[in-house]
Amino acid sequence: MAAGKSIAVCGAGPAGLATALYMRRLGLDVTILERFDEPRPVGSGLILQPTGQAVLHDLGLFDAIRALGAPIDRLHGSDSRSGRVVLDVRYDSLPKGGRGLGIHRAALFGVLHDEVLRAGIPIRTSQDIRQVRQAADGKRYLVRADGTECEQFDLVVDCLGASSPLKPLSHGPGKGKSLPFGAIWGTLPWHGDGFDEAALTQRYRRASVMIGVLPIGRAAPDGPKRAAFFWSLKPDDYVAVQRDGLESWKQTVLGHWPEAQPYLDAVDDFSVLTLARYAHHTMSKPVGDGIAYVGDSAHSASPQLGQGANMALLDARALYLALRDHPEDSTKALNHYARLRRGHVRLYQALSAAFTPFYQSDSRALPLIRDVFVSVLARIPPAPQILAALVSGSLLSPVRRLELEKPPRV
Ligand SMILES: Cc1cc2nc3c(=O)[nH]c(=O)nc-3n(C[C@H](O)[C@H](O)[C@H](O)COP(=O)(O)OP(=O)(O)OC[C@H]3O[C@@H](n4cnc5c(N)ncnc54)[C@H](O)[C@@H]3O)c2cc1C
Repeated sequence: MAAGKSIAVCGAGPAGLATALYMRRLGLDVTILERFDEPRPVGSGLILQPTGQAVLHDLGLFDAIRALGAPIDRLHGSDSRSGRVVLDVRYDSLPKGGRGLGIHRAALFGVLHDEVLRAGIPIRTSQDIRQVRQAADGKRYLVRADGTECEQFDLVVDCLGASSPLKPLSHGPGKGKSLPFGAIWGTLPWHGDGFDEAALTQRYRRASVMIGVLPIGRAAPDGPKRAAFFWSLKPDDYVAVQRDGLESWKQTVLGHWPEAQPYLDAVDDFSVLTLARYAHHTMSKPVGDGIAYVGDSAHSASPQLGQGANMALLDARALYLALRDHPEDSTKALNHYARLRRGHVRLYQALSAAFTPFYQSDSRALPLIRDVFVSVLARIPPAPQILAALVSGSLLSPVRRLELEKPPRV
């Protein structure tokens, strides 16, 4: 797309902020539109995989992110009754190295947002975008919730997340498959006793109980160390959990994981925790006439494989390459964007859908199969290497395909 053309990036999450930086790199006239009065991060912490780290490295933001995050060497989970290991993935099994980076959402948001401000990209807040329409001259204009219209743009990039109202009807909000299990999440002070500072540590009971502690570093350089704490549950059951009271819930958690006591001590009210619902949808082609879908608006999944934010960053990079390589023909550019991401997105969406019931479901059979696989087969090479590649996001080599360099070690 030729320099100077106007781009509306809708949404100031990881997808929107990274996309805006890449659009500015192409010399495009980019504006971010966000519904919040003040742009702010949503949710607790997440793992930045080597894929997402490579994009941040390319954007010149790797050192800033590395300084805030917590390096992760291992994902480890065990059954609360038997003590059997039911999840064991080690990044040092990756043939070319690499580690995860646990990161506070405020840190990821802050680093991207500061760079957007430094680049002078305007962020228009209080813009609740509901529709995109085509003007007579082929340009696009956006309609807000109050029915007012924004000015026209040459290209719209939908980074509005999983419930984006801009998705075509066949993929619209509510059309994704809601998953039976979600989780309550909290960002709590880090407590090292009994916890590995370089691991995501989880406790399970079959697949219906899952509790986790993920070190996520600091929100700001001088801030305290934090952990993301989560408890898997069916969203519809949360009302009953709250009705039974905080103490009753804490006793249930402690029954599975007594060492979690210091984390539970930091929860003095359910308001400290946030309910997250999970849904699964994959757009067959994340582009339309004059519009591209980036991040969760194009594909969302349960966070079981921990890829969502990383996929959003890879999408932003792919859109940049496509527009760079087809500056005069936006239809070709958008089709190229869709092609660049198709294989990786489809593979990870399929794997995410396949793996989730082994870790979050009422099934009794699936966790049994899981336990046999993890305790026997997963230890036999090349299974450890494949599992590490899967979790790191590097199956199908998206870093090489998107002309990215491997980031320095975290
Ligand atoms: C509990 C949980 C744990 C997760 N763990 C991980 C993990 O470990 N690793 C990982 O990579 N991913 C993880 N994810 C997934 C990750 O959070 C998402 O994939 C990622 O945030 C997607 O980024 P996005 O920018 O596409 O969407 P979002 O982060 O949802 O951002 C969308 C933005 O659009 C704005 N917006 C929405 N609607 C409108 C509107 N109508 N008008 C204007 N603005 C609007 C929102 O305010 C927001 O700023 C997790 C998700 C959850 C819920």
